[in-house]
Amino acid sequence: MTNNYCYLDNAATTKMSQAALDEMTLYCRDFYGNPSSVHKLGKQARIAFNDYKKMIANIINCETSEIYITSGGTESDNWALQSIASARPYSKIIISSIEHSAILETCKILEKQGHEIVVVPVDHQGIIDIDYLESHLDDNTSIVSIMHANNEIGTIQDISKISKIVHKNGSLFHTDAVQSIGHIPINVKAMGVDLMSASAHKFNGPKGIGFLYCSNEVCLTPFIVGGHQQMGLRAGTENIAGLAGMAKALEENQQLLRSNLDHVTYLEKVLLCELSKSTLDYKINGNLSDKLPGLISISFKKIRGEALADLLAMKDICVSTGSACNSQSDVLSHVLASINLEPDYAYGTIRISIGRYNTEEEIVSAIHEVITIVKKMQNKNISNMSNDSPF
Ligand code: PLP
Repeated sequence: MTNNYCYLDNAATTKMSQAALDEMTLYCRDFYGNPSSVHKLGKQARIAFNDYKKMIANIINCETSEIYITSGGTESDNWALQSIASARPYSKIIISSIEHSAILETCKILEKQGHEIVVVPVDHQGIIDIDYLESHLDDNTSIVSIMHANNEIGTIQDISKISKIVHKNGSLFHTDAVQSIGHIPINVKAMGVDLMSASAHKFNGPKGIGFLYCSNEVCLTPFIVGGHQQMGLRAGTENIAGLAGMAKALEENQQLLRSNLDHVTYLEKVLLCELSKSTLDYKINGNLSDKLPGLISISFKKIRGEALADLLAMKDICVSTGSACNSQSDVLSHVLASINLEPDYAYGTIRISIGRYNTEEEIVSAIHEVITIVKKMQNKNISNMSNDSPF
């Protein structure tokens, strides 16, 4: 099956690379053994499991024993916080106001269990208030979790600076690097993180697999029980095919890091240049001097982002409203609320996220379509697709 979609929603998920797909196929079709089995196929699978973990470990600069395979970013985030919190009952946990819901919802559960949750505010660019964080650290703080790159506006936090402050206090530091890994350099030692979450489908790997980096200095508690796998910490037959696809995708993206970065940065410039030629009233969100290349959050005045995304979808142009997780809801995203975007603009936000497979031709034609539709919407002051469609 082929399609003619213009896919500009790479922060929601990415197309799998051919190399990742081929690697995965091998382990679905030929080397399908259970790593716990004693026969040859089982032993092959056991060796592959360790080799692929080693590939990932080399890329992010850690030991193989520090990589735990999970079902993705959500599980890694849940495991990281729940594990550290369970070892320190009634402790303080510090997060930022723009974390992914996997962190926010985990914290709601931990709060009910008696932990104190402190939420660090961000400025209008989405940069966390480091002084606020520092002033709330104390002896009772078990863990601080601040995401690397934000999934809605792309703002990148200064992780190595934050981790130094957190460690000075003797607390642990976790980062959700789901949006950044495979797209910008990641070195867990240089960043000074104790735990880090990653998800394969955000870097051209398969869905349903990710990993949690956890330093050997940190004691993880079991998350899924019922088997000896992954040292009894996360039981269940290992997903070797998924891991093969994830490791291959990460390796390839790492090798192509510079050229992919140049490519998406160039396409972003083309898009912004075309947009700036229009007479539209809009704002670009996030920290423009340090954000994830290719992730563009645009807020158009006095229109509805959901209606724009729907109208673009009718033209086979795939974008998100704010973030994929919030695209079905009418509630203003917590990230846009946190950066204090004026409501006139905030509700008119779409997220365009460019990936390695996009072309200049696609970008130019997509942004011209956006401009045409927004002009019609603003002229007719369409607030909802169901009321009045310009087409
Ligand atoms: N963290 C961030 C920053 C994300 O953007 C996402 C997915 O959108 C997740 C966590 C959840 O990852 P997964 O889809 O692998 O569960």
